[in-house]
Amino acid sequence: MSVKTNALGLVVLVALFTGCSKSTDDASASDTGGSVIASAQAQQATEQLSAHSDYTFTTEQKDASEYTRKLNEAVYGELDFDDKTAQENVERGFIAPLLNNGDIEGVYPATKLNFMQGKKAPPEVNPSLWRHAQLVNRGGLFKVIDRVYQVRGQALVNLTIIEGDTGIILYDVEYTPATLVKSIELYQQERGKKPLKGVIISHSHADHFGGFNGIIDAGLATKEDFTSGKIPLIAPEGFVEESVSENVMGGNIMARRAGYQYGNVLPAGPKGKITAALGAAVADGQSGLPIPNKTISKDGEKVTIDGVEFEFYVTPHAEAPSEMVFYIPQWKAMSMAEELNHLQHNIYTLRGAKIRDASLWASYLAEAVARWGDEVEVNFGPHTWPVWGNENVVRYLKAQRDLYQSIYNTALRYANYGYRPDDIAEYAALPDSVFKQWYNRPYYGHTKNNLKSTYVRNFGWFNGNPTELAKYPDAERGKRYVKAIGGEERVLALALESFKAGDYRFTVDILNNVVAYNGKNTNVNLLMADAFEQLGYQEENTLYRNLYLSGASELRAGGNIPNKLGTASPEVLGALPPSLMLTYLSMLVDQKKAEGAGNFTINLKLKGEGDYALDMNNGVLTSVADHQTKNADVTLEIAKLDLLAAMSGKAKLKDLLSADKASITGNQEVLSKLTSVMGSKMRNDMNLVLPLQDANKIQ
Ligand SMILES: [Zn+2]
Repeated sequence: MSVKTNALGLVVLVALFTGCSKSTDDASASDTGGSVIASAQAQQATEQLSAHSDYTFTTEQKDASEYTRKLNEAVYGELDFDDKTAQENVERGFIAPLLNNGDIEGVYPATKLNFMQGKKAPPEVNPSLWRHAQLVNRGGLFKVIDRVYQVRGQALVNLTIIEGDTGIILYDVEYTPATLVKSIELYQQERGKKPLKGVIISHSHADHFGGFNGIIDAGLATKEDFTSGKIPLIAPEGFVEESVSENVMGGNIMARRAGYQYGNVLPAGPKGKITAALGAAVADGQSGLPIPNKTISKDGEKVTIDGVEFEFYVTPHAEAPSEMVFYIPQWKAMSMAEELNHLQHNIYTLRGAKIRDASLWASYLAEAVARWGDEVEVNFGPHTWPVWGNENVVRYLKAQRDLYQSIYNTALRYANYGYRPDDIAEYAALPDSVFKQWYNRPYYGHTKNNLKSTYVRNFGWFNGNPTELAKYPDAERGKRYVKAIGGEERVLALALESFKAGDYRFTVDILNNVVAYNGKNTNVNLLMADAFEQLGYQEENTLYRNLYLSGASELRAGGNIPNKLGTASPEVLGALPPSLMLTYLSMLVDQKKAEGAGNFTINLKLKGEGDYALDMNNGVLTSVADHQTKNADVTLEIAKLDLLAAMSGKAKLKDLLSADKASITGNQEVLSKLTSVMGSKMRNDMNLVLPLQDANKIQ
């Protein structure tokens, strides 16, 4: 088994289980029933073919269409591009550019991501997103206030260096050690080498902590300095558990969706990746997991490090399940961590994660105004850039507070009137004074997505109309629609009409009826790709843009586009709580196979982690902690990581037994039974637009 991580808290367990049962047949890829066209329809189709013979179906990237150009041009009239406050704040305190321009070969291509600096938006990029990219991709060392410095643009997050009386405190440590080392070097070059006096990690997302080992690589501390508690390493309560667990259960599919949402298959450029919105890009490379020697659980807890007093406020289950913000009274400085950013954040992230509570999020911002609003003079955060001046900081806090509360209120209020989620997203009337503020623009979280998600968080997926209950899956519905319309060629002709009229949303919708069951109609695929591309070019939201453009790439490539993610260090695996690991193993069981294999019980003694009673019953595996079943079929004593290796086929149980890494009493065959019912290999190159490939189907 390997563990992979992506930034933003994505910890992905990829289990390489083997299995040999024959493929299940879900009729999505192989059946082309809808393409059987009666002879009269075939005649009609031939005529339609000539009707769209003027369109060249190619796999090339296209320019912006006239519709896209006009829509993007119109953005200049909708937003206040004359307001240069953000540009001034981004440049304020600039000391030095990033080392080597921020480029680290194979890890971080900063130069490529700054192609937009000093240029006007091309027709293929929404000018508002272009502007944001210019701001957030800008790198260098900056002075925030005396004794607070930031390296920005070297990673998705900023490295904040707080100067204490005798040394430095690092606040959030990037996603990968290679970038952190460069950021530290830049700071030291300009400010000198100072001893490390403390580390603060704001929350449980990997872009904020994965680079921790860079501190050791840079020679600022040893591991022992942290394990002994000599250097405080502070994180919010629940940090470790949430860091490894938030995305483990659904990690494999999340990784795929994350790859599309961050555009990791797209080249940087006007027709590809522009920015990651929270920062320039997600670095490639391995991330680690720091184990804090002090956690903050008490609200209002004060901690003094090297003469600097921090007043912490814990803000869980808003932007992250474990998060905290702080105030430094002596400098009237505040950091709202990732609860406050120069963009609308995700209430629901499209890679797939639990939906967040917009109202709770707003309440934390409201509380910050109440606590520190009278005196705060500066806010700096791990993403985007600082804001200075009491009035400006309070206005910023209140605007972001109003944004999240407005999303919550709108979704709930409209729902109560009887509006359905799609209609709320499309038609809800929202206050311009909230949504047209630059720092509330939907660069990362999309307003429509956030409204729909808030509906789902509160009411679930069902909108009340029983048609939803009767709906066929996409492939089955598609076949029926295509037949009703008169065949695939007729659908293509209608789609082309829609495309030529600039209605790209309907174009992809009608073509999806074909794609859902037949991924092999090349012209359908290529037209759908062209429509996705125009939708991407129009988007102000970076994740929507990347998903549209990645969808276009998938269609043009005919599927199977590779997914590349860094592999996490053993410390991430080692920190997985045993109960979560067992739930994960249970999820991976092929229940039909297990049902056939019969019932059994296992007493598991996980070395140093406690006893668990496992019950395989009716094909379903469950476990109870701190318990052992009387007369269990077998008792297995093993370390957690060895068990994971054995279950994934990475190690053989008999080798572990002969190496004294495991011991068994009872019926050993039961353990072979358990490994034999583990599901087949999980790949991570599944198509997200085209039908699921046979290789990805459950074997
Ligand atoms: Zn972050």
